[in-house]
Amino acid sequence: MASYEKLKNDMSICDGARVGGYANACRGQLYRCTGCGAVGCRQAKDHACTKQGFSVAFKCYACGAIGQQEAVVSGHAGSKSAASTPERLANTD
Ligand SMILES: [Zn+2]
Ligand SMILES: [Zn+2]
Repeated sequence: MASYEKLKNDMSICDGARVGGYANACRGQLYRCTGCGAVGCRQAKDHACTKQGFSVAFKCYACGAIGQQEAVVSGHAGSKSAASTPERLANTD
C-alpha cells in the first residue's frame, strides 16, 4: 500500500472530520492507547470527531482504559505546519 506509506508522514495529526457544528477537519493531535493500540484524537466532548479515540479524561474509546495514552509522533520532527494547532485542546468549555 504505497499511498498508506505516504500518509504515515502525517500520522500525528488527525484527519477525521469534526461533527456537531464544526464542519471542518479535525487536525488534532493523535494519541495511541498503550493498552489496546487504538489510535485517535482527543476531544473535549464525546464524538466530536469522526476519528476521536479518547475522551477529555483520556479514556480510550476502544478498551476503556484511562490515562494509558501516548502521543503519536510523526517521523517529521521539524514539520513547518506543526505549530498551527495543539493548544486548542486546552480551550474546552
Ligand atoms: Zn480528530
Ligand atoms: Zn485502549
